[in-house]
Amino acid sequence: MKPALQGLFPDELRDVCTGAGFPAFRAKQLWQWLQGRHALSWDAMANLPRAFRDALDAGWTPAPLRPLREAGDPGGTRKWLLGLDDGESIETVLIPARDRKTVCVSTQVGCKMACAFCASGKGGWVRNLGAGEIVAQVHHVAALSGGRPNNVVFMGMGEPFDNYDAVLRAVRLLNHPGGLAIGARKITLSTSGLVPGIRRLATEGLQVELSVSLHAPDPERRRRLMPVEGRWPMDELLAACREYTAVTKRIVTFEYTLVRGFNDSADDAAQLAARLRGFPCRVNAIPLSPVAEFDGEAPSRETCHAFLDALLRHGIEGTLRESKGKGVSAACGQLRRGSMRENPPSTIMPSSGA
Ligand code: SF4
Repeated sequence: MKPALQGLFPDELRDVCTGAGFPAFRAKQLWQWLQGRHALSWDAMANLPRAFRDALDAGWTPAPLRPLREAGDPGGTRKWLLGLDDGESIETVLIPARDRKTVCVSTQVGCKMACAFCASGKGGWVRNLGAGEIVAQVHHVAALSGGRPNNVVFMGMGEPFDNYDAVLRAVRLLNHPGGLAIGARKITLSTSGLVPGIRRLATEGLQVELSVSLHAPDPERRRRLMPVEGRWPMDELLAACREYTAVTKRIVTFEYTLVRGFNDSADDAAQLAARLRGFPCRVNAIPLSPVAEFDGEAPSRETCHAFLDALLRHGIEGTLRESKGKGVSAACGQLRRGSMRENPPSTIMPSSGA
């Protein structure tokens, strides 16, 4: 498998070009095509000589992704199943709002974390994505949706901190002023609770948003939803989050999936608030998005709002976020999992050839 050129910084591209015997200005042209104009094939880069493209193509690819399937509608949330060079596939989602476009990227093929309500976790982990494969997802969406997105959230398939180095490289490339120039505060890293990743992120000097999946007000219930609780218990996780806010002066967002009759009562909200009190944070409550593998339901709207009201009464701010992708199987991993059931990986290839 050839690495993706989208994973290289300008000085690294220059070394690749000069190392292949071409002048440094070709690297500038290449960077502009890849990071400025969202080119995802050699054919798109019309002003680069054929000999140059052929020489680089021996070791690198500008085309790490190809669309296999799309769900959604042109004006709303759109989701792509994207094929990788080795025949694996990942999902990328575009979530438009009135004044912004958000892209949700994957960081791994599959996931090791096995969260109970997540289709990605059900299939197990296959491999990490390279930084170029992560960055190329944003360019893919930019190319197909008429321009650069404003926000990138690392909330697709995979646990970002289980692929830390590639993810941080991708963040810095997305943030690069000569490329997509997505502001650090417009980039959200989401973790199921890998404490070493939170501690490491605190030392990076980045202004990115941190989002942590909690999903339960106590360790016992969290463990039933999230096996990671057995490795990094809630108390240790929240201690790391406190340290993170102290070092970075940033707020932490806790994701909390509301499951009817399981974690959605006013008492649960009070218990959650007691755990979170004393450091800058907020709660993002999300009614459960149904997946075939998890036997649970979303609470009613009234229950969701009662939960948030109780949270606020106990001093913690929260918002209710609808799962934007219900209609397009956009909850994490559902499109890929559905596709794998219908077609094993080696046969889902109705590629559009982009
Ligand atoms: S919710 Fe995220 S961390 Fe959990 S299994 Fe799914 S992809 Fe992995």
